[in-house]
Order: sequence, then structure tokens, then C-alpha cells
Amino acid sequence: MTTMQDKETTGTLYVVATPIGNLEDITYRAVRILSEVDLVAAEDTRHSRKLFAHFGIQKPLVSYHDHNEQKRQEELVKRLQAGENLALISDAGTPCIADPGYRLIASCHAAGITVVPIPGPSALITALSAAGVSTERFAFEGYLPQKAKARADLLRKLNGEQRTLVFYETPHRLAATLADLVEIMGAEQPVVVARELTKMYEEFFRGTAAEAVARFAREPARGELVLVLPPSTQGPQMNVRDALRKLLNEGDLSRREAVKLIAREYGLPSSDVYRESLSLTEEEG
Ligand code: SAM
Repeated sequence: MTTMQDKETTGTLYVVATPIGNLEDITYRAVRILSEVDLVAAEDTRHSRKLFAHFGIQKPLVSYHDHNEQKRQEELVKRLQAGENLALISDAGTPCIADPGYRLIASCHAAGITVVPIPGPSALITALSAAGVSTERFAFEGYLPQKAKARADLLRKLNGEQRTLVFYETPHRLAATLADLVEIMGAEQPVVVARELTKMYEEFFRGTAAEAVARFAREPARGELVLVLPPSTQGPQMNVRDALRKLLNEGDLSRREAVKLIAREYGLPSSDVYRESLSLTEEEG
């Protein structure tokens, strides 16, 4: 239990947001706090040293990341209990948003240590603020799973979601994710790809999932990006396999006709849909 006296002698943990690209986005308060604390816990100390050099901040840095979290946590809590003031930062943006930190913060709360957020940039909010989609209700899903099946399963689960969905995505996985989107949510699913926010090549691509597939096949995405999916006005769409199964089982159309129809509706090459139909028939014996 924390006594009044402990409160006076324990330090404070400041959770400080840093820029996601443009260094001018740091706040006055963030610079002041980072200059005043005794120690800064950073995800990558080499990376943060560059930020500190830019702002003339001279503070000792210790690493705090996914791999040393537990060990470091005990050490940092002890230092806070001994009266030192600490700041937590990540490589970019707001700590704990797809970044390490929450366990340290939870331990501080549990130990009665004051935790003070110093708000600032986050790619998620930056993307939403200028995406031009409804933000009344949204769900942040972090990074999509890396494995194709897990990713498709999650997208299937999210299909029909009435809140705007936000994901962090890497440029080398974007094409595969967009292809899944066409198949699972449909060619007409609206998509915003917010790229290189606050940086020189900042871009907001807005279009349908099918248009996004074409654009990023022509010109593969570079840099950092946020994928924003506002709810489709057309409601959830059946995935290609289920839609094909339904048509083939109804028996009104030939395979050729069913394939043509689905390919048009989903904006997919007929050859892919034909292959899918053969695998379906094989599966069903
Ligand atoms: N904590 C950070 C925040 O508050 O946004 C996010 C850290 S997460 C490890 C990094 C991911 O955030 C990137 O892969 C990308 O999806 C997104 N991101 C970070 N900076 C970005 C930027 N300038 N433009 C677009 N996306 C960015």
C-alpha cells in the first residue's frame, strides 16, 4: 500500500510521445520533460540518441524492449521507488501503441507510482485525422497476422464490421493483404492507405480494394503505412469460395457462367476463379 510519505518520495513515470517522421511534431512539453527526468527508457537507445542530439537533450538512456522487458521493469520500478523521475519513449509515436510499455506502466500503477502521459503523435490517429472517412467509431487492430491463413481468418471475422477498421501494415505484405481484402470483403470495399505520414513522400491513397490492388501492383508501396477500412456501404460480402459454392450448388448456371459472374463481381481474373471452382469440386468429391 502507498502511504502519503511514499507519494512524496517516489518518482514519476512520464510516458512521452515522440515524432513519427517530422521532428517538428514533438511538443514543447515532451522536450522539457525529456530534459528534466533522471533517466529515459527507450526501445532503441541508438535511435533515440539521434532524436536527443537534434533537440540538445543530454540524458542517460537505457533500453526497454520486448526482449528485456521483465528484467528491466523491476530495475526501473526500483529506481522510481527510490525517487528518480523516468520517461518512457518508443522509436516513434506513442509508447504502448503497437509498441512495448504497458507492463512497465501496469507495474508502476500497482506499486503506487504516478504515471503521467505526455501526448503527441501516433500514426493511427494521424492517419484517421486526414483519411476522410467516418471516425465516429473505429477499431484499431494493430498489425495483421503474418501467416496467410491467420490473416484471412481475421479478415473474414472482421467482414461486415460497422466501425472503421485501422491496421498497421508493412509495405512488403500490403499486396497480399489487399488481395485478401478483395476476396473477403469484395472488390468495392473502400480502402485508404496512409503512407509516410508527416514525411516528405506523405500520401493518402483512396479507392476501392480492387483499385488498391492495381495501384500497388504497378507501384509497390514503400515506407511506413497505415491501412484504413471504412465500413462498406454494401454490407458484408460472402467470400469467393462460399459465393462459388452457392452458385454451383444451386445448379442454375454452368461452371463457366458461375466463374464469369463471380470474377466480374469480385474484380478477379477468371482463371483464378476457375481454379478455385475446380478445387471446390475436388474438395466436395
Ligand atoms: N507507436 C507508434 C505509433 O504511435 O503510431 C507505432 C509503432 S509501430 C511499431 C510502427 C508502425 O506504425 C509502422 O509499421 C506503420 O504501420 C505505423 N507508422 C509509424 N510511423 C508511420 C508513418 N510516419 N506513416 C505511416 N505509418 C506509420
